[in-house]
Amino acid sequence: MQQITILGSTGSIGVSTLDVIARHPDRYSVYALTAQSKIDELAQQCVQFKPQVAVVGSAEGAQKLQTLLRQKGLQTQVEYGEAALCAVASAPECNSVMAAIVGAAGLAPTLAAACSGKRVLLANKEALVMSGPLLMDAVAASGATLMPIDSEHNAIFQCMPGARQRSPAEHGVEKILLTASGGPFLKRDVDTLDQVTWQEAVAHPKWVMGRKISVDSATMMNKGLEVIEAHWLFDVPASHIEVVIHPQSVVHSMVSYVDGSVLAQLGNPDMRTPIAHALAYPDRIHSGVKPIDLVQIAQLTFERPDLLRFPCLKLAYDALQAGGSAPAIMNAANEIAVQAFLDGRIGFRVIDQLIARVMDALPAEAITDIDSVFEQDRCARDLANSLIQP
Ligand code: NAD
Ligand code: MG
Repeated sequence: MQQITILGSTGSIGVSTLDVIARHPDRYSVYALTAQSKIDELAQQCVQFKPQVAVVGSAEGAQKLQTLLRQKGLQTQVEYGEAALCAVASAPECNSVMAAIVGAAGLAPTLAAACSGKRVLLANKEALVMSGPLLMDAVAASGATLMPIDSEHNAIFQCMPGARQRSPAEHGVEKILLTASGGPFLKRDVDTLDQVTWQEAVAHPKWVMGRKISVDSATMMNKGLEVIEAHWLFDVPASHIEVVIHPQSVVHSMVSYVDGSVLAQLGNPDMRTPIAHALAYPDRIHSGVKPIDLVQIAQLTFERPDLLRFPCLKLAYDALQAGGSAPAIMNAANEIAVQAFLDGRIGFRVIDQLIARVMDALPAEAITDIDSVFEQDRCARDLANSLIQP
């Protein structure tokens, strides 16, 4: 029986994870659930899944959850704050951790899970972007297993050679073809992009996701983060990771081999497929996702991304090239810019400009430990905030 901690259980990935787990009570049970602020939803989840521990963001939230759970007769232990997140991610009672907190807030607990040898199901791509070498070293040192949840990376994992003792190139991998839907603004007149609203930006044509990743998809920073994520997960240089726009979102990514073979993973755009794959690997289990009807889809199309339309994609390649703390700086500036856009404080086109200004102003430094990552993250956030007019 796998005992699972779900970090960010009330989010889009968290809810999909619980949906898959609920289909297989013989295989999975929930050790801990965590949420920042949706206390009523978290209480409902606790009633259904009966975790031993629940963690929220604040003392008031914990008080409210405690009251709700005691009314229902549940004895779930209620905690709050980052130390409690790290504790449930590394507790000896759990063996798998779904890392599904959004943004830099997920880094410390994800690292805690990696350091304590868990099976880490990684949705929180920002954690890997910020601290790629540290997180990968922690996984190697503790004997943890890292399973990609991001649909593209899960697809690549499925298309990679099975037993990888050597580098991907030595196994004949030529390049990774990372597919992207292009988001809601793929065909919109570029000159009108400065006027789009956050409601338009989060209305993704193919995926239903949290608001931050939805805006990232509209700017294609999401794909930029995924290029960096693919680099660290699969040990492939940036020059061998190519982004291909594929608006139907049926091919979730591909691996191209030196003999001319291209392997792809296909499926409906539903995160329960990669979640079920990562939970059960190497087994296969039902996820609730219907198989695709290729005849009904009829056409799969592919095109090159336009970097003038999507400058964030280039910024991410630049950050990966610069190395060190550059991806962490870019990620922090992006988080501030996206929140400011969602709050109506800056326009859509200012997002990429703000990130570029922060990256220009802060040179990349070597990252030696997790404290240096958080220090760079803080500097980039302070600068980005100071550049936004009140
Ligand atoms: P979401 O906004 O729907 O949910 C985020 C979760 O994190 C919530 O449970 C929330 O309570 C928690 N959270 C937010 N801020 C927190 C904080 N400061 N401290 C502790 N917990 C906090 O986000 P999502 O769409 O589920 O995405 C989660 C992660 O998965 C992101 O890193 C995203 O890039 C990645 N991802 C999501 C999808 C998707 O389809 N939604 C696909 C691929 C990757
Ligand atoms: Mg993705």
